[in-house]
Amino acid sequence: MPKEKTKKQKKSPPKVQAFQSVKGMADILPKDQNWWRMLRQVGFSVSELHDFYFIETPILEPAGLFEAGVGQSTDIVEKQMYSFKTKGGDLVVLRPEGTASVMRSYLEHHLGYFASPLKVFYYGPMFRYEKPQAGRERQFHQWGFEIVGDGDPVYDGQIILAALSFYKALKLKNVKVKINSIGCRVCRPNYRQRLKDYYNNRRDKLCRDCKERYEKNPLRLLDCKEAGCVELRAKAPIILDYLCQNCNNHLKSVLELIEDNGINYEPDPYLVRGLDYYNRTVFEFYIPEVDYALGAGGRYDYLSEILGGRLMPSVGVALGLERIIEAMKIQEIPPHLKAKPKIFFAAVGDKAKKASLKLMQELRESNIAVAEALGKKSLKAQLKSADKQKAPLAMIFGQKEAFESTVIVRDMRSGAQETVVLNRMVEEVKKRLH
Ligand SMILES: [Zn+2]
Ligand SMILES: [Zn+2]
Repeated sequence: MPKEKTKKQKKSPPKVQAFQSVKGMADILPKDQNWWRMLRQVGFSVSELHDFYFIETPILEPAGLFEAGVGQSTDIVEKQMYSFKTKGGDLVVLRPEGTASVMRSYLEHHLGYFASPLKVFYYGPMFRYEKPQAGRERQFHQWGFEIVGDGDPVYDGQIILAALSFYKALKLKNVKVKINSIGCRVCRPNYRQRLKDYYNNRRDKLCRDCKERYEKNPLRLLDCKEAGCVELRAKAPIILDYLCQNCNNHLKSVLELIEDNGINYEPDPYLVRGLDYYNRTVFEFYIPEVDYALGAGGRYDYLSEILGGRLMPSVGVALGLERIIEAMKIQEIPPHLKAKPKIFFAAVGDKAKKASLKLMQELRESNIAVAEALGKKSLKAQLKSADKQKAPLAMIFGQKEAFESTVIVRDMRSGAQETVVLNRMVEEVKKRLH
């Protein structure tokens, strides 16, 4: 807008602040939608191939769901939840993850009657209040797979395979699975104690966060990235030496399955997850180029009980979609998607313009996507838009054509054009788009 010249005023008028998106929350602009459309296409196709059903849960959930499910002493619940009180006095949060919501829904609607085990997938935004940095937005999107109601290791294998199919369909290269077991109710307490014993007289060497973790969640000491803590870890006892017979057998079966399927994996005895509900198998997916996980998951046999249901062995995975896009860009993989070609409709003169909506409608009803720039007066300006949109074909409809009931079909690459009669327009366009 042109600035208006005004006389000097005594008081300067209040400045209107231009709004910006909330820190750590990004717009997904039309230019980036190719990526997102591809992710959704691949996601739905892989999910259906693996026989998962779509489930959608609300973005707002009761705060207690995550306090109980994810764990009071986890970083997510202690520091990263967007929580607020509603006008009615309920404490709610923007969901920080999807698994607890799926389990809540499962228990609320008795989804076990629908299928056992229940195989569902979800897709949508998650929210965590943390320092925005590469691969960590405050609003981010996940694609998740959950298998609820069966403890057989064959389902751990299925979840890992579903996630890998997703990456493979996107053409991501060198995806590796890091895998570990974090035991169960029987064997984990013993290991926890051994870990505490080891760290007890080394506590002053731990970083500040780990000093706290020592009390609340000693397993998390293992995945600290601080140099001092990494050094201490080298001689710490590892859980594999303390697993009970059942956990040991379970891990063995899962490893056999992934070996049978030729999966590139690496056992990682220090892999633990930042959520309390996991037990037994935990895993994360990596590519060599970045140091953050592209997806992660594991078994959560006790979550149902924690939320008031009966014991319901379950396993799941969540894939970070922003991180996947980043990884594809790093590996120079373009968004590959079969976009529908869009033809362009140009009309010049009042009579032609008036008739053009009807003609465009006819094309669209024949399943042909049509773009236009009818607000621009000249044919030249309209065809410039056609070029910009990379339309393969343009229809040119002027006074003469309107009068003769014809239209010009122009091949935008070669510039060749041909006049066709209007009642053959759809056919002629289809022929050229083949
Ligand atoms: Zn165990
Ligand atoms: Zn530390």
